[in-house]
Amino acid sequence: MSHPKIQMVDLQRQYSAIQTEMDEAIGTVIAEAHFVGGRQVQQFADELAQYLRVEHLIPCGNGTDALQIALMALGLQRGDEVISVSNSFVATAEVIALLGLRPVWVDNDPRTFTIDVQQIEAAISPRTKAIIPVHLYGQSADMEPILQLAKKYGLYVVEDNAQAIGADYRFADGRIAKTGTMGDIGCTSFYPSKNLGCYGDGGAIFTNDTVIAAKLRQIANHGQKIKYASDMIGINSRLDSLQAAILSVKLKHLDDYNARRQAVAQYYDSAFATVPNITIPYRAAYSTHVFHQYTVLFPQHRNHIKQRLAELGIPTMIYYPIPIHQQKAYHQLYKGQMPLPNTEYLAQNSLSLPMHTELDAAMLEYIAAQLLNVLGELEW
Ligand SMILES: *Cc1c(COP(=O)(O)O)cnc(C)c1O
Repeated sequence: MSHPKIQMVDLQRQYSAIQTEMDEAIGTVIAEAHFVGGRQVQQFADELAQYLRVEHLIPCGNGTDALQIALMALGLQRGDEVISVSNSFVATAEVIALLGLRPVWVDNDPRTFTIDVQQIEAAISPRTKAIIPVHLYGQSADMEPILQLAKKYGLYVVEDNAQAIGADYRFADGRIAKTGTMGDIGCTSFYPSKNLGCYGDGGAIFTNDTVIAAKLRQIANHGQKIKYASDMIGINSRLDSLQAAILSVKLKHLDDYNARRQAVAQYYDSAFATVPNITIPYRAAYSTHVFHQYTVLFPQHRNHIKQRLAELGIPTMIYYPIPIHQQKAYHQLYKGQMPLPNTEYLAQNSLSLPMHTELDAAMLEYIAAQLLNVLGELEW
């Protein structure tokens, strides 16, 4: 049977649509040959800061570095605890552990898959210094209660915004803020498949705090304020000029790209909302959703469904198949911590469907029809 070619992410078609603009931007960088620290880097930093309505934005090498630099800037001590979630990309926990800090995991809310704000307080100890909420799949964690707890206990908040760039959080008083700009520091990744992705690796750190901003800048640049004079131990983490130029082009399209993802989500929602044995993503009232992933839950048979869809030419992914606290490198660190049943359920039962900016009607119809067929084949 012939069917449309479906990919989890389609960066080729996305490039084709902006090829002239993109080739020109890339050509300019090559012609100017200022590959590191070129004018394109500051230009992109200014544009993204303006888009996010944040005062300071420091580009860096990737999203993992962004998180590491953020934690380094907070001056935490060995053994200090950092609260986060176990249903995330490993980078979130990795940087905590690398710096000699202790990751403390709180379960996710089973509807939104972001940190369960009801359970944070029980995880706070005298050694707790920071919380890293992850805006998973493109929807904000519930920031207002997180910020209130942080204030009450004197904790820093570092937002992992790698999956939600462009999403808006709404506070109870109606104020709206971009995800990543509400805590002390926001971090993001420009990995190619992210909602704002470059053509290689890239990341950024942002803050409204001038003192923290100076530290972030210095840490990302070998601890130097003045060239060849390090007054603290830093790292080398840069966004190069080519990636910055590419990102300036793509930033102009970000709202359109996110709207296209939302239209795909809308299509899936209407196809599956009333179907038994599949749970569509919950839309929290406090956040817009920019659908980095469209992730559904099945009460059982997830692996079988994934396999059947693959046979039908429909790729799907599991984000993430092994929760961080159950991975070999981390399970020792988890000993004695609170149970994480929702996190484990998500790893067992979730499936992320194809989601990108280039899915057309024929593809979506095919995916929906086949998934409904597969569900119909099963005994529940
Ligand atoms: C992608 C991602 C990162 C890491 O970004 P890299 O640029 O790959 O280092 C961190 N956290 C989350 C939640 C991510 O999705």
